[in-house]
Amino acid sequence: MSRKFKNVLVTGGSGFIGSNFILNFLKKNISGNILNLDKLTYAGNNANLESLCNEERYKFFKGDICDESLVKKILSKFEVDAIVNFAAESHVDRSITGPSEFINTNVLGTFNLLKCAQEHHKKLKNFCFLHVSTDEVYGSLELDDPSFREDNKYAPNSPYSASKASSDHLVRAWFHTYDLPVLTTNCSNNYGPYQFPEKLIPLTIDNALNNKEITVYGDGKNIRDWLFVIDHCDAIESVLQNGKFGEVYNVGGLNEKTNIYIVETICKILDNINPQNKSHKNLIKFVEDRPGHDFRYSVNAAKIKNDLGWEPKETFETGILKTVNWYFDNRDWINSVKEK
Ligand code: NAD
Repeated sequence: MSRKFKNVLVTGGSGFIGSNFILNFLKKNISGNILNLDKLTYAGNNANLESLCNEERYKFFKGDICDESLVKKILSKFEVDAIVNFAAESHVDRSITGPSEFINTNVLGTFNLLKCAQEHHKKLKNFCFLHVSTDEVYGSLELDDPSFREDNKYAPNSPYSASKASSDHLVRAWFHTYDLPVLTTNCSNNYGPYQFPEKLIPLTIDNALNNKEITVYGDGKNIRDWLFVIDHCDAIESVLQNGKFGEVYNVGGLNEKTNIYIVETICKILDNINPQNKSHKNLIKFVEDRPGHDFRYSVNAAKIKNDLGWEPKETFETGILKTVNWYFDNRDWINSVKEK
């Protein structure tokens, strides 16, 4: 039988995936409250959750997942029965120029949540901890390598993926050492509404709309497996409700695309909805590659499909069209988050 939750603590719920998760959860579930703990870094925006201002089942707490007394207070006061941990520094380029924040939040912050959760679980037996992670922990693939499975060895190459890999190991250790009921998801690249315009898709759309250069690393042939964000949110809910404690679930979009394909597809859509004298493709400029740039990620999502019945609903074609249209219609949102 599916687990049901009264009070779910979402960390990092004002960021891209977290805010989509909260909106999706409250829309679909008739019971269950959401508590959102977010530090509101540059990537966190409460404008994403404006539509919840009169929602009684939603509460926001501005704070840091590294703050032990705050986390303990929230867990006990609200009898939290699940934590879904999204809070993270998430941009690979920023991890190269400033790795410290990645270690603080992704490693020490997760460690603090686990410590608090461990104590809380002693009092509340039906508590569980879901850790949201990335496929980047598995490293880079060649073109003909098989997709990442849950039992692939970890081989992170950037400070970001190394910090997420460390947090995944801590989560695993808390299951084996302290019997904390944990679940981990490792997902491929997400796209959709509310993503900060520093990541490939919203950045490309924003630059194209502002007639600025659209920069592409290296030869643009790097491959990512793209998943529409709502499909990811559904996968997390499915693991939260029915996943087996201690297990890891890979989540993927079955959509491997090169970066240049993504950029050219966005330009084509914009040529239709925002016609200019020249195609938006003329703005594309190839720039020096990112150091340690992983060539290919590809996720084998057979386990979550076979065990929990989840698979993506959105194709890349339908998802990217919705996404470009959303950013086109929400240029005020892009401008407001850039100004923050
Ligand atoms: P994001 O950068 O958009 O949002 C992160 C959120 O965490 C922000 O709201 C930020 O304010 C908050 N935050 C940062 N440090 C915090 C701290 N110390 N305490 C409390 N809140 C803090 O990230 P995202 O893209 O939504 O990713 C969410 C999670 O999913 C991350 O753990 C990321 O590793 C993982 N993930 C992301 C992707 C992707 O494609 N975006 C893919 C797979 C996994």
